[in-house]
Amino acid sequence: MRSGIDGDRLWARLMAMAEVGPTPEGGSCRQTLSDADEAGRALFLGWCEARGYGIRKDRIGNLFIRRPGLNPEASPVLIGSHLDTQPTGGRFDGVLGVLAGLEVLETLDDAAVETARPIDLCVWTNEEGCRFQPAMMGSGVACGMLDLEKVLTARDCAGIALADEIVRHRYDREAAPRLPVADCYVELHIEQGPILEAEAKTIGIVTGGQGIRWYEISVHGEETHAGPVPMALRKDPVPVLMHLIGLVQAIGRLDEDARCTIGKIHLSPGAINVVPGRADMTVDLRHPNEEVLDRMHRRLMGGIEALRQSHRETDLQACLTWHSPVVTFDGALIEAVRASARDRQLTHRDIVSGAGHDAFNLARRVPTTMIFVPCREGISHNPREYASLTDVMAGANVLLDVTLARSSEGQPKVSSLSV
Ligand SMILES: [Zn+2]
Repeated sequence: MRSGIDGDRLWARLMAMAEVGPTPEGGSCRQTLSDADEAGRALFLGWCEARGYGIRKDRIGNLFIRRPGLNPEASPVLIGSHLDTQPTGGRFDGVLGVLAGLEVLETLDDAAVETARPIDLCVWTNEEGCRFQPAMMGSGVACGMLDLEKVLTARDCAGIALADEIVRHRYDREAAPRLPVADCYVELHIEQGPILEAEAKTIGIVTGGQGIRWYEISVHGEETHAGPVPMALRKDPVPVLMHLIGLVQAIGRLDEDARCTIGKIHLSPGAINVVPGRADMTVDLRHPNEEVLDRMHRRLMGGIEALRQSHRETDLQACLTWHSPVVTFDGALIEAVRASARDRQLTHRDIVSGAGHDAFNLARRVPTTMIFVPCREGISHNPREYASLTDVMAGANVLLDVTLARSSEGQPKVSSLSV
């Protein structure tokens, strides 16, 4: 039996963190830069300080915990995730990647293993994007995808500015966010979907992330009384909406990797006896292959154009509001995850991330990959979110192996740990 991380210590910390910002249903609410988020960070930093790790913060509130390497010149191996949650968050989303990262650092210390490269455990600010938009903010600013001054103007629904929360929690006196030159980034996360559990696999070897395109579509007609106006004389947006729904559902069945979601539909004015004057809907298209996603986009646009021609009584408008390209993770890191899963005799499969993660931002700057573990019934962003101790330990051990392999490169191979 290979040795590895201390599962009991990791589990105790996951449960302790969940008690910060507890919700009545047993989940956690630590929305970004709230008092609860800051209390969770304080708890975490207390654990880091107790082991004597160096702590660096930046002006957006990202935290970097360093375990030094033998070669101070060597670029660090980055691991990590986020501690903020949705308002009805669970105990594992994000928290697992951070606390398993701390567990990796401590396991190496407990075993007196020295690595050539330093290891930096990163805690990214505002991954969730529920209180302040956009999501994946801290990593986005650090990686140069988002502008610090611009995101600081974001306000929550109570009107509180992100900039004021940054000052209140004293991050304003820290250095500007900047990703260090790094060897790689590895993030452990719960799958947030049902595939691993359904196939009884323990480790998801994440090969990349789906490309995402968001659309807002509106159909303008004319409000009229539901009684006097014959069907043929109406300018009713609903028949167009009906065709749009059919179109989007058909695109979603293009192949088994395609995802099409209509998340919002709104009819105005929304009265039982009024033919609506306007219909609005959103469309979310996803696919792991950019060319196929392009094809889905063209089918949507082509279908919309055809509807425009066949329903001249209404005015149909569609606009692409957001585009996140397909993310491809680093081949060598993917193979390192696979090797660890195989060596530890853990069941595994390749998987594409359906959700967005900080790793997507990191992947545009440094070799990056992710490790997934199953979550019960695929439920996440929910107090019922649950991952078993066995799976949590398996994921943390794979993170340990990959971190050790990358941080020891150029040193004699460390085959196993004697803890
Ligand atoms: Zn997350």
